[in-house]
Amino acid sequence: MHPSLRSHMIAARDIRPGEVILRERPLTFGPSDHTRPLCLGCYKTIESFDESLACRDCGFPMCSLECQTVPEHRDFECQAMKKNGYRVNAAKFKYNGCRKDRMDFYD
Ligand SMILES: [Zn+2]
Ligand SMILES: [Zn+2]
Repeated sequence: MHPSLRSHMIAARDIRPGEVILRERPLTFGPSDHTRPLCLGCYKTIESFDESLACRDCGFPMCSLECQTVPEHRDFECQAMKKNGYRVNAAKFKYNGCRKDRMDFYD
């Protein structure tokens, strides 16, 4: 064992490329920092502000009323933003030309 390796696992048998070796429910999940604006209900890319519907509580662009009421959004992240007085102006997000290598949502 190389000294630079700290906590790690060693396979007891050969593992094929792409073979599932562990399934685990995530503690949390969400969009990457390096993404175009997307719906926080279904994670589809929002192509333009005009085609979106701003969440009435947090202001993030959503694709539908149904997505606003997805429990993962409505009951957790949206509530946390609302509780902390955080609301975005989705009209100012960049929908086209957003660089994928850095977060530059706003003009
Ligand atoms: Zn959606
Ligand atoms: Zn919301």
